[in-house]
Amino acid sequence: DRSLAAHLRDGVPSFSFEFFPPKDDAGEEVLWNTIADLEPLEPTFVSVTYGAGGTSQERTVRITARIAEQSGMRAIGHLTLVAQSKGEIEDVLKQYAAAGIDHVLALRGDPKGGPRAPWEPHPDGMTYAIDLVELAGDLGGFCIGVAAFPEGHPDAASLQADAEVLVAKERAGAEYAITQLFFRASDYFDLVQRVRDLGGRIPIIPGIMPILNFAQVSRMAELSGAEIPREVLDQIEPISDDKDAVRAKGIELATQLCRDLLAGGAPGLHFITLNRSKATREIFETLRSEGLV
Ligand code: FAD
Repeated sequence: DRSLAAHLRDGVPSFSFEFFPPKDDAGEEVLWNTIADLEPLEPTFVSVTYGAGGTSQERTVRITARIAEQSGMRAIGHLTLVAQSKGEIEDVLKQYAAAGIDHVLALRGDPKGGPRAPWEPHPDGMTYAIDLVELAGDLGGFCIGVAAFPEGHPDAASLQADAEVLVAKERAGAEYAITQLFFRASDYFDLVQRVRDLGGRIPIIPGIMPILNFAQVSRMAELSGAEIPREVLDQIEPISDDKDAVRAKGIELATQLCRDLLAGGAPGLHFITLNRSKATREIFETLRSEGLV
C-alpha cells in the first residue's frame, strides 16, 4: 500500500473523511453505517480523532484498525499528548503499528478545560506536537501528518509564528498537514503562501465542515478559534429559523469553498463528517459531476 505522501507527490487531489470514536454502541452503529455509505466513493484516506481519556483512546485505536482491516481503506490514526506520559504515547504508536496503521496525525491536543484553557503538559509527557513528530519518526515506519491553522492557532503569537511552527514540524519529519475548519478560501491560501515563503514544501490539505446546524458550527468555530466571516453570517442569519434552508445554504457555501480551493491548487479536501454521510456525499457528488474529484 502506498503512502499518502506518495499519493500527494503525484499531484492527484486527495479526498478524505474524518470520524470520531463514538461513545456507545448506538453511536458505533451510526458510524459503521456512515462508513459503509462513504466507502464506495473510494476516499484517498479516512481518519479517526483521538479523545482525552483512556476508553475513548482505546476506541480510536480499535476503530481505526477495524476500518483498515475491513475496508482496506487507508486509515490515519490521530494521536495527542493530552494526559499521557511519553511512555504511554509511545505505547499507542506501537499499538497503531501492531494493528497495521502506519499513518498518524501527530497533534498536541487541547487542555482538558477546552481549547481556550492554558496548556499544561503531562509531568512525564511532551509539550508540542513537534515532539510527537520526532518520537514517531524515531520509532520509524510511520507516514506522519500534522495540524495547520488558516486563521492561526489560538495560542500562537502571530500568524507568522504559527507558520514557522508548521515549517518546523515539516523539518522534523511531517509529510502532510490537515487544516482546522475555516470558511474563507483566502485564509487557506494566505497560510500556504506564508509556509512557501519560509521554504516549506509540505502539502496542506484543507479541512471542510459544512454548516448544517448553525448553533453547532458556531460552537465548533468558536472553540477552534475559527471565525465565521460576516459574508457567511449575512447569508445564514436571515434564514436561521429555517433548518432546511440553513442546511441547503451550508452545503452550497461548502461546495463553493471546495471549488475555490481546488481551483487555487489545494492538494485535496478533508471532510469533517461528524460521523454522518449525507451532507458529505451531496457535496462530493456535486464536485464529482463537475469532474473536480
Ligand atoms: P502544536 O503544533 O504543538 O501547537 C500548539 C501551539 O503551540 C500553537 O500555538 C503553536 O504555534 C505553538 N507552538 C508549537 N511549537 C512551538 C514552539 N516550539 N515554541 C513556541 N510555540 C510553539 N485534538 C484532539 O484532541 N484530538 C484530535 O483527534 C484532533 N484532531 C485534529 C485534527 C486536525 C486536522 C486539526 C487541525 C486539529 C485537531 N485537533 C485534535 C486539535 C488540536 O489538538 C488543537 O488545535 C491543539 O490546540 C493544537 O495542536 P497542534 O498539533 O497544532 O499543536
